[in-house]
Amino acid sequence: KVGLEKTRKGLTEKIEQLIVGYADIDDEFLDDLEAILLTADVGVKTTAQLLSDVRAGIKNKQIQSPEELKPFLQEKISTILISGETAEPEVQPPMVIMVVGVNGVGKTTTIGKLGNYYREQGKTVMLAAGDTFRAAAIEQLEIWGDRIGAEVVKHTEGSDPAAVVFDAVQSAKARKVDVLIIDTAGRLHTKSNLMEELKKIYRIINRELPGAPHSTLLVLDATTGQNAVNQAKLFGEAAAVSGLVLTKLDGTAKGGVVIAIKSELNVPVRWIGIGEGVQDLRPFDPAEFSQALFA
Ligand code: GDP
Repeated sequence: KVGLEKTRKGLTEKIEQLIVGYADIDDEFLDDLEAILLTADVGVKTTAQLLSDVRAGIKNKQIQSPEELKPFLQEKISTILISGETAEPEVQPPMVIMVVGVNGVGKTTTIGKLGNYYREQGKTVMLAAGDTFRAAAIEQLEIWGDRIGAEVVKHTEGSDPAAVVFDAVQSAKARKVDVLIIDTAGRLHTKSNLMEELKKIYRIINRELPGAPHSTLLVLDATTGQNAVNQAKLFGEAAAVSGLVLTKLDGTAKGGVVIAIKSELNVPVRWIGIGEGVQDLRPFDPAEFSQALFA
């Protein structure tokens, strides 16, 4: 189970119905295909690219009938997803992961799941409650810490997030923790302040541990479709985002947003969230993803 059932229904099954409904690929067929791709949130730019690929495929006879469209599209989409993929580099502990994103996207849950993933690999994990703005965020992180067996570094609500992060990095170094995962605030109504805060946190981590943070993950809610793409652009400018986490893919037919993000932004999707449980986070595997989409 990859959690893509809804997207599969919205995208692949509609393409299959389209194929059955037409004897030839004509302009009307292409218009319908365009509408299906846009509805699955593949994005305007990527949809235009895919349609031009299809037109070229028809012209050079790679696609001679509607049935030949599906494997053709699958190939194009998996090429988009796989291009330029690189693995996360191995680092000397502590590996520091900074997690950013707007409130409500599933940031805290993702941190818990991510911590659990490393715990299951036998690593020690520390969580830092860098979102000091919301008492609930600190409490929620503690609940996750208890659940997965990770220590949580926290200060009181309203305290300086930079101080929390400083303490966490010192403590992770002193205790030789394998993985330190840092939560950050996500209140977007004070956008410029938030971006400044994230930059400051980044600088402190880097000052206290050169080379860190080893990754900065931006968490995006897949159900928000193109909004997620816009958030990625916004955070990308301020926070040197190195990878993306797309949450709630289980709850949306808009999983095409993965394709839009990959083709429009130069940031790899690292993880996908496919449910609320502790196990429902998977490393993103582009080949597996496109296979599941077209299965
Ligand atoms: P935060 O404000 O960004 O920290 O968001 P939370 O981590 O509190 O998550 C908000 C809600 O989304 C919670 O109810 C989570 O259980 C839910 N959630 C997070 N990730 C996923 C996911 O991958 N799938 C589903 N279905 N729900 C998720």
